[in-house]
Amino acid sequence: MLPKPEMSVRKLEALTGEEYLESLRDGRRVYYDGELITDVPSHPAYRNAARSVARLYDALHDPDAQETLIKQDRFGILTHKFFTPAYSAQELKEAGEAIACWQRLGYGWMGRTPEYKASFMATLGADPGYYKPFENNARRWYEETARKVLFLNHVIVDPPVDRHRPHHEVRDVYIHVTKETDAGIYVSGAKQVATASALTHATFVAANSGTAQRLEPGKDEDFALVFVVRMNNPRQYLISRSSYEAKAGHPFDYPLSARFDENDAFLVLDNAFIPWEDVLIYRDVPKLKAFYADSGFFQRFNFQATIRLAVKMEFVSGLLLKGLRANGTDGFRGVQVALGEIVFMRNLFWALVAAMAQDPEPSLGGSVVPRLEYAGAARIATNFAWDRVRQIFERVLGGSPVLNVSTHRDLANPELRPIIDRYMRGTGIDAVQRSKLFKLVWDAMYSEFAGRHGLYELNYAGNAEQKYLDVLQWAQGRGQMREFEEMVDEFMSHYDEKGWTAPPWRDL
Ligand SMILES: Cc1cc2nc3c(=O)[nH]c(=O)nc-3n(C[C@H](O)[C@H](O)[C@H](O)COP(=O)(O)OP(=O)(O)OC[C@H]3O[C@@H](n4cnc5c(N)ncnc54)[C@H](O)[C@@H]3O)c2cc1C
Repeated sequence: MLPKPEMSVRKLEALTGEEYLESLRDGRRVYYDGELITDVPSHPAYRNAARSVARLYDALHDPDAQETLIKQDRFGILTHKFFTPAYSAQELKEAGEAIACWQRLGYGWMGRTPEYKASFMATLGADPGYYKPFENNARRWYEETARKVLFLNHVIVDPPVDRHRPHHEVRDVYIHVTKETDAGIYVSGAKQVATASALTHATFVAANSGTAQRLEPGKDEDFALVFVVRMNNPRQYLISRSSYEAKAGHPFDYPLSARFDENDAFLVLDNAFIPWEDVLIYRDVPKLKAFYADSGFFQRFNFQATIRLAVKMEFVSGLLLKGLRANGTDGFRGVQVALGEIVFMRNLFWALVAAMAQDPEPSLGGSVVPRLEYAGAARIATNFAWDRVRQIFERVLGGSPVLNVSTHRDLANPELRPIIDRYMRGTGIDAVQRSKLFKLVWDAMYSEFAGRHGLYELNYAGNAEQKYLDVLQWAQGRGQMREFEEMVDEFMSHYDEKGWTAPPWRDL
């Protein structure tokens, strides 16, 4: 019998924005531009993104938002509604509203906000026993994450090297256990891509469906691990990609890069010590293969991600409308068709969210999660949608996004300004308004930040092919493919080479 978490907790212990920023000053090893960053929240590569996350934490303490965001879990912990398991469709629906409330603060432009990983961490509270013999670890991590509304990043993909070889032949790169002691394990290796990791409280290390599929029982046990790494682990190295925030400068010029750049890092654990308390699955290939869908993590992360993209779709629907109006083309039939396609995708995603919430399936410990079929479909529908959005912007705004001043400083040049005012105005808006609007369009669709978003939307939930393979494999596992085949068999049993074999056609 597991010890129950403290029942008397009734006070909201979620971090405030300020406490969150302070919590990032813990000696983490984040490298940027040749240097170890000593103070992440004040570094130009992370400062504004950290403030954008801090806003989410502040919302938890805003009395006007609390009804939407906060609930008391079954153990008495006050937490964000998606940080605890749902036990009914209604609870799942309310958790979805809490996700949307946070996502609207980032206009859908931050994918890995704290509630993304709550998709998994909440499931630890539903049935810690699933992680036997590490059930106490599961319960403890659930409790701490729910109580403080912790922000975890996750790495579940091996680096793109030697993928044609089995795991045990790539010990120099892939994460594996090197030593076991009474106190814990030592692990070495690397994983991609630790999005927003510099801004989080811990790293969750595991394997997605594609990675786990390649593990061989009897040979790859050292790689079959799920564990959590605290950010101050001295042997965890985060090697950041180039920061679009650091390059953004003035918000007028790069309004999205300047505040929503959740930097992706390459993560290395170099003989890192992981105490047993932070281990969830150890040297267990079958369990590692199963946990992705069994835990409810897959179903729940797609719930969060679909809500996030639905919000982002609303933002780009508004953005495209404004751009078209500024060009004077908003009344044309063809561009209206294109805008309608984006609105259609937005509507489709909300419909998927409604289906995921209102028609859930049972999961661990009596909890409910979105139906696996709906989550798998949402993953495909959302992950390929952004490609189409970018195509539409390219076609219907034509070259207009490239017509702009180099920076806001041109607008302050007294010689240039009258010329800009006359010739660079938009339809019904002045030159400054037009410049501001198309700087935003540029950052949404064409800047380095935008390019990374294109790559993110397509790949963050696994490679483009794995999504279809998973849908098929799960349909096979649940007997659906057999049923589909039987349907065809039944149809074909109505006739043969001599004619009809079944009534009513046979009896005519
Ligand atoms: C910006 C960004 C942020 C991300 N953030 C995170 C994060 O925070 N955490 C995280 O864990 N992941 C994250 N990801 C996702 C992850 O890192 C991978 O990019 C994603 O899972 C796709 O895998 P891959 O890049 O290894 O592509 P691959 O698996 O190499 O796939 C590329 C293509 O190779 C082919 N291929 C691959 N495997 C096979 C095979 N077995 N047989 C035949 N063909 C094959 C297919 O054509 C496939 O489409 C992020 C990705 C991006 C782009």
